[in-house]
Amino acid sequence: MTDPVTATPDSDLRPRFWENVPLEDLSKPEWEALCDRCGRCCLLKLEDADTQEIEFTNVSCRLFDGATSSCGNYALRKQLVKDCVVLSPENISRIAYWMPVTCAYRLLFEGRTLFDWHPLVSGRADSVFEAGISMHDRVIPEYEINEDDLEDHIIEGMA
Ligand code: SF4
Repeated sequence: MTDPVTATPDSDLRPRFWENVPLEDLSKPEWEALCDRCGRCCLLKLEDADTQEIEFTNVSCRLFDGATSSCGNYALRKQLVKDCVVLSPENISRIAYWMPVTCAYRLLFEGRTLFDWHPLVSGRADSVFEAGISMHDRVIPEYEINEDDLEDHIIEGMA
């Protein structure tokens, strides 16, 4: 078996950094490499104002590209979508609770480890899709539904 870290093309990544480097001490490339490109954080969510319980829907942000399971304009996302949250080591403590339970940032923030299908562990980007985690071709863009119908699009197992 190939060491997944060695297989990672970005040589700036320290060996198995996700296991031994705190989130606040990660380099920019390491922080970015944590994202598995699942696209789940780009889904619209419903939050109970009293309990803070989160429900995910299969409706995506208008910038999300379902064909590639990634943001259609990552560099300008905050300018184009004012509600977009740019995750960082500084705000993870406030945001982790509404990230998907499979999200690498949430897992590490909560003291857990990455799943075997994470590309840093498997050494392959396709493992996210094979594990059924990717939202590739599984979403409806927000501009194709009526906002009042969002509850009809709730999906289980993400929060
Ligand atoms: S949910 Fe987490 S791992 Fe998935 S795309 Fe969003 S930030 Fe990346």
